[in-house]
Amino acid sequence: MMESALTARDRVGVQDFVLLENHTSEVAFIENLRKRFKENLIYTYIGSVLVSVNPYKDLEIYTKQHMERYRGVNFYEVSPHIYAISDNAYRSMRTERRDQCILISGESGAGKTEASKKVLQYYAVTCPASGHVETVKDRLLQSNPVLEAFGNAKTLRNDNSSRFGKYMDIQFDFKGAPVGGHIINYLLEKSRVVHQSHGERNFHIFYQLIEGGEEDLLRRLGLERTPQQYQYLVKGQCPKVSSINDRNEWKVVRKALTVIGFSDDEELLNIIASVLHLGNVQFGGEDGGNAYITTDTQIKYLARLMSPLNQEQAGAARDALSKAVYGRTFTWLVNKINASLAFKVFEQFCINYCNEKLQQLFIELTLKSEQEEYEAEGITWEPVQYFNNKIICDLVEEKFKGIISILDEECLRPGDASDLTFLEKLEKTLGGHAHFVTHKLADGKTRKMMGREDFRMIHYAGEVNYNVNGFLDKNNDLLFRNLKEVMCLSENKILTQCFDREELTDKKRPETAATQFKNSLAKLMEILMSKEPSYVRCIKPNDAKQAGRFDEVLIRHQVKYLGLMENLRVRRAGFAYRRRYEIFLQRYKSLCPDTWPSWDGRLVDGVSTLVKHLGYKPEEYKLGRSKIFIRFPKTLFATEDALET
Ligand code: ATP
Ligand code: MG
Repeated sequence: MMESALTARDRVGVQDFVLLENHTSEVAFIENLRKRFKENLIYTYIGSVLVSVNPYKDLEIYTKQHMERYRGVNFYEVSPHIYAISDNAYRSMRTERRDQCILISGESGAGKTEASKKVLQYYAVTCPASGHVETVKDRLLQSNPVLEAFGNAKTLRNDNSSRFGKYMDIQFDFKGAPVGGHIINYLLEKSRVVHQSHGERNFHIFYQLIEGGEEDLLRRLGLERTPQQYQYLVKGQCPKVSSINDRNEWKVVRKALTVIGFSDDEELLNIIASVLHLGNVQFGGEDGGNAYITTDTQIKYLARLMSPLNQEQAGAARDALSKAVYGRTFTWLVNKINASLAFKVFEQFCINYCNEKLQQLFIELTLKSEQEEYEAEGITWEPVQYFNNKIICDLVEEKFKGIISILDEECLRPGDASDLTFLEKLEKTLGGHAHFVTHKLADGKTRKMMGREDFRMIHYAGEVNYNVNGFLDKNNDLLFRNLKEVMCLSENKILTQCFDREELTDKKRPETAATQFKNSLAKLMEILMSKEPSYVRCIKPNDAKQAGRFDEVLIRHQVKYLGLMENLRVRRAGFAYRRRYEIFLQRYKSLCPDTWPSWDGRLVDGVSTLVKHLGYKPEEYKLGRSKIFIRFPKTLFATEDALET
């Protein structure tokens, strides 16, 4: 019997990495992931952290029956699942009255968005509800298709890639019913509206409107049902994608818009159409250098959809727009090729900085909560050495000498400030920093293999080169004042809300893009710090978006930069396992005649009696205030096996 239990473990691996015999071995770690992946067991724990590998196929593990199975059940008694994490957070909130947050991370295509939807669906189905709560639930659920339509796009790495960061709050009442929600979004990749790399698309909504929009709607918007006709839709040369049905999605999005109370979506669609028309406005250049517009039908529609101004106003607005657009378009044309690269680099810089912050939060909170638990239970332990990436966060965000600070300084400095003077300042200030490198070596020589316009950062996850081209422009994120004025004058109510008149009278210089991002990240960190975290770490099994393929090199890389081995080490350093006395007793009481069928005394004495009977040695376990701590997984293994015999 003992043997058959072992065989099963050989086949499907262990459901918690802390149970691995050789917990420092990356090979063993990946082997365990592989075994489970093969058996369609995509979820595995590291203690209370959930590791998830994208199966790239629909698994029958998200049914209502599955939800029921995880409801109110203890973490370790059922197989690992995103529902277990969801349920655990929910119950902690209700019983301990503490705010909870679930942090989902992983690279593009790893399954973060899908995981977040599963969490939401779990709450929608299992939480109590009454009356208006139904609409709250529906709206929470329906916010997804809408956000995805406007914020997701097909990229090379993911056919439904989220091009923005998302933080969603769900508020529950004292009965545990969801009564409200709030979404914060971060850093939408705006540049995608006007440019897409080869094989990528613009945001879904454009294609959905064109493919699915009703005849009379398209007529009103002046749109044709051919995406190829719109400059903004064909930059990546793949307006149609086999895995995406834009026409069906359109219906889903329309319905979702209605559910979230956006019944009059006319103006929203006007803007979407306007952007497409705007994209098709072409300029010619006269000999004298002045631009002229070569397409007038577009302007006609634009005027009708966006700015129904009187003749005089429209004339003034047109002139203002022309002047502004001339300068910008000219620069844009010249910089088009270089800029597309620079755009990405700046955005990548912000995203990597964000990941750096989240990693720090992860390290701090996992260590902190671990330590707090030992303290609360009166148990001594030895802290583990780990790499604290605070030094990298500081490199980016520190006042006066961080990269963002130096960038802002250059953006504000009148005169000859440029991307290159920014780089020079970085060199001067950060030259000796352990995580910052440029082509200049300390002895005045030049580092090979490094561009003169690049700086390199040693992130916790690896080294990345950033080309400084476009950093200043991107950080300034200037929109011409005249264009802002036109937007303020629009009769489109959404536009007037987006472009506040106060912005025009405000003499204060607006915050730069990087500083805005830094501040919003700081706020996010504050929110997350105030809550008790659960973690889902998503892994992408291959780059081909295919089911059943386990690309070891790719996976090893992710295990490394997600810090999973480190996480496991921390978890194992003290006591691999901890369980509340009543749960431990409940589960194993049948193994000892003194505790079976029930134990009447103090819980701690019952557990003590039980483990002594099982032959636990004193160094193998400790008894805390409310929990038993078990040092080695094999101890618990043996006990689990004894249950099965
Ligand atoms: P990005 O950072 O680009 O937004 P992501 O981590 O949000 O990526 P998802 O969009 O969640 O990635 O997943 C990519 C695709 O992988 C999904 O569209 C789906 O086809 C598949 N997938 C992810 N998770 C699962 C799952 N649990 N079951 C089945 N398929 C999944
Ligand atoms: Mg996503």
